[in-house]
Amino acid sequence: MSMLRPLRLVLLGAPGSGKGTQTSKLLKEFGSIKSISSGDLLRKQIELATPLGLKASSYISQGQLLPDSLITGVIGDELKSRDLLTSKASWLLDGFPRTVGQAGALDKYLSTHDAALNLVVELDVPHEVILNRIENRYVHVPSGRVYNLEYNPPKVAGKDDITGEPLSKRPDDTAEVFGKRLEQYKQTVTPLKEHYAKQGILSTVSGTTSDIIYPKLVTLILQKFAR
Ligand code: AMP
Repeated sequence: MSMLRPLRLVLLGAPGSGKGTQTSKLLKEFGSIKSISSGDLLRKQIELATPLGLKASSYISQGQLLPDSLITGVIGDELKSRDLLTSKASWLLDGFPRTVGQAGALDKYLSTHDAALNLVVELDVPHEVILNRIENRYVHVPSGRVYNLEYNPPKVAGKDDITGEPLSKRPDDTAEVFGKRLEQYKQTVTPLKEHYAKQGILSTVSGTTSDIIYPKLVTLILQKFAR
């Protein structure tokens, strides 16, 4: 297992660009990295029917973003409760921040803990590839594990490989809602990328499959963070 200097990474990418898949692979390869996925966090809260889950579900089912103040608080609390607000921890965020407002709030919060972001990677996947992928996507909500009926099917149809629990289709992966989410991504990503380019921490990796993107992502991380 490779050793890394503390890495505080944000993965940017359209919905369906494979952020969850890249995250699972990185966690397996680099034992020191922890991850927070805003979408997984919210889906768990919805399943548990918590007050946050109830609030989030109306936004999510319509393909709308939660208000910045709400999601920023959720991620801040998660970083804190998992002891990740130190200059020594390595972690990655998947799905957050999604707006410049969220990015600014995160920068402020992290700087007070001497734990500023040190890498932002955009996963650049052609949109026609993404649309095709979404139709075949299934998730295991408790773990966030993602399956694709074409490239990465579960060993037993409809069941999670590790727990045997049922997989589900995300209600926001329908053609109509997904179209909205993709459109919204296109509108919000440019200012977000500018925000991080100014800080000199933005990189992009391109490819049509996760197997093409992953080695590029690892090379990038090792170039910058190998001990
Ligand atoms: P994801 O699994 O990352 O595609 O997120 C699913 C849904 O959760 C999004 O379509 C939003 O409704 C909500 N969500 C997740 N992350 C954020 C965020 N950073 N800001 C606002 N809403 C979010």
